[in-house]
Amino acid sequence: MRFINRVIALLLALGMAVSLAGCSKEEMMGSLAGLMEKATGPIQPDKTLDGSAWRNSDIIGAVTETTQVSLKDDFHTAVNRDWMLTADTSEYGRASRFVDAQVALNEQMLSLFQPGDNTCDEEILPQSEADHLKDLLLTMTELGGGHAVRNQQGVEPLRRYLQAVEDIQTLDGLTAYLCGEGGPRLLQETLMNGKVEAPLDSRDVYTVHLNAMSHLVLEDPEEYRSITSFGERLLEVRQNAVRTVLGRLGYSDAQAGEWFRRCLWLEVSLVRCLPTQSETNNKNYETHINNPYTREELAARQGSFPLTTLLDGAGLGGSDSYLLYEPLYLDTLAKLYTDSRVEDFKAYFIVHTVLEALPLLDDACGELEETISAVMNGTSQSREQTTGDEEEPLPPVPTDTLPEEQDTPLEETVSGYVTPYLPGVVQELYVARFCTAEEKRQLTAMIDDIVACYEEMLAGEDWLGEETRQQAIEKLRAIKARVLYPDELTDYSGLTLRSAAEGGSLLDAVADIRAFETQHAGDKVNRPIDRADWDMTEIPTTAANACYLFNSNVINILAGTLAGNALYDPEAPVEQNMAMLGVIVGHEISHGFDINGYYFDKDGLPNSWWTSEDELAFRERADRLANYYSTLSVLPNMSGGYNGKKVQSEAIADMGGVKAMLLMAEKMPDFDYELFFTSYASLWRSQCDYFSEMQNMDDEHPLDFLRTNVTLQQFEEFYQTFDIGPGDGMYLAPENRVAVW
Ligand SMILES: [Zn+2]
Repeated sequence: MRFINRVIALLLALGMAVSLAGCSKEEMMGSLAGLMEKATGPIQPDKTLDGSAWRNSDIIGAVTETTQVSLKDDFHTAVNRDWMLTADTSEYGRASRFVDAQVALNEQMLSLFQPGDNTCDEEILPQSEADHLKDLLLTMTELGGGHAVRNQQGVEPLRRYLQAVEDIQTLDGLTAYLCGEGGPRLLQETLMNGKVEAPLDSRDVYTVHLNAMSHLVLEDPEEYRSITSFGERLLEVRQNAVRTVLGRLGYSDAQAGEWFRRCLWLEVSLVRCLPTQSETNNKNYETHINNPYTREELAARQGSFPLTTLLDGAGLGGSDSYLLYEPLYLDTLAKLYTDSRVEDFKAYFIVHTVLEALPLLDDACGELEETISAVMNGTSQSREQTTGDEEEPLPPVPTDTLPEEQDTPLEETVSGYVTPYLPGVVQELYVARFCTAEEKRQLTAMIDDIVACYEEMLAGEDWLGEETRQQAIEKLRAIKARVLYPDELTDYSGLTLRSAAEGGSLLDAVADIRAFETQHAGDKVNRPIDRADWDMTEIPTTAANACYLFNSNVINILAGTLAGNALYDPEAPVEQNMAMLGVIVGHEISHGFDINGYYFDKDGLPNSWWTSEDELAFRERADRLANYYSTLSVLPNMSGGYNGKKVQSEAIADMGGVKAMLLMAEKMPDFDYELFFTSYASLWRSQCDYFSEMQNMDDEHPLDFLRTNVTLQQFEEFYQTFDIGPGDGMYLAPENRVAVW
């Protein structure tokens, strides 16, 4: 549900792989040497434009053995110089602390899918439960491994799911299929989808959101009104896939074609009143779908369509309220759900069951799925467009017996067949295996301390009126910090999967997983909303990152931030951890008070709590910050300035995070400021090539060297620690400093 809990600000957009198109890297790297020469020229401390003494040392090659920089002129480069000279970018094309954490995390993750040590912190999860989770992952890994199981089973596992549809004879039979136990289990979403979420305009009690069907051959209702070349291509590859798979199962091509035609015919009738994808992205869409209904009102509107029975079967029947996104769609279903259309509905389920199963069958089906994905992602070149007579023939229909071949590499099996279907299990086993309850307690205590400092910081902002200040403090106190893993983990003991030896298949496993999920879909119905609730399938904890959720006033500190001790090291001095994970926490809190977060209230609803005078002052301060960033020249040979507006929110958060830490430092005897500031510069050390840095310019986070230099320029403690003053490259006169908080 894209608009609920999806408005998040990430600490760092981490791209491990960068793809380039259109220009030759070697060519650019050649001219880069010359450019860098210019960029590393003499320091010009008398310039009015601050930042002019800095080089963009994020770029590989900007720092060489001969580079000598003073801490007072270019702090980021001076602190990180030696690291930059030895940083290894060969494997990932870039290097940084976040890459280090991600690499360590990947290694830990991979071990979850292999036999071996599974010792867990029993305070997080009893060992027997952790072992059960491990069994689930190993079984899925076995079932997903290409040669051993999937390719031997071919398309055969699909047969019984299609048979269940074929067996439908009447409208009652269709209802039983839709609502009953053995229903369309592979299709998690059917003709009407229910999901338990917060209402759109309050944060009191969970409600059931009812959205229209999501499985459409052409994806976008707009395509059914006026088909584009994308739609035509999608139609072609999907039809080809359905006919190929049905052909392999022994159905005639005429039968397959008939089902496909009927499916489309039904979709044409159903999508008539549905919004197009561009309409769902419109900012008024939330108003359009905010249609509260009671069960009785739904029953009165559903006509022959068994919506209430469907909800009962999905455990969603007892909700006090429903949000019916598209009432007219329900009216359409009510009219179409008749005996005369049973064959059309059957065709719809046949076609979409085949399409849903495609990525779960053998490698030949996987190739069909890849062709579809390529069209969906816009990466496929239309055959008609590429060549004329050199056109490659379509691949032959494969047989079920394939020659000896290498098994799929473990990474591919995991990312293709395990993680997407058991995301919650992966997350739970990861935290039980690699985190400790003690770490969670320590970090939670640390966050409490930071929030307390932050309150002092807000209390000391003399540009804020008293009324707004109190509201800000109230919002701060209401922030929920979700640390490493949810307080309550999901109980997966009811989920069992059959191995290949027990006659299981990947397809059956996914069907069983979905049945399990359906059984639990209604668990939260009518419950008060608890912002501490953390669904790790939506926000995985296995990322070296942290985030703030505007719509619920929540910060998430993810377990990946602990991986490899790259961002937090329990053995390190407190100053170092404050400059890294401490700043990260402060940064996330600050997002509640940045240019995006400031008008959401303490519950995450868009209600302004600012007096107009204070809001004006806030916006002026934020604009000054953006304008300052816009004056910086950050890439050699780049025309136009830096887009200060784009990085405004993240820059506000960076400065807020450091300021909170400095307030904390004030209370600590013998605080080592030098270690704090150099550690902070080390947090943002990074190396990438010129092209990647150009892409980073499009990100809403400031470039790494600016995250150090511009942020630290705002603080008097920094100047004092390193004896920086007018004339030094890092110096910014007090009247020109731009921190919002
Ligand atoms: Zn951020």
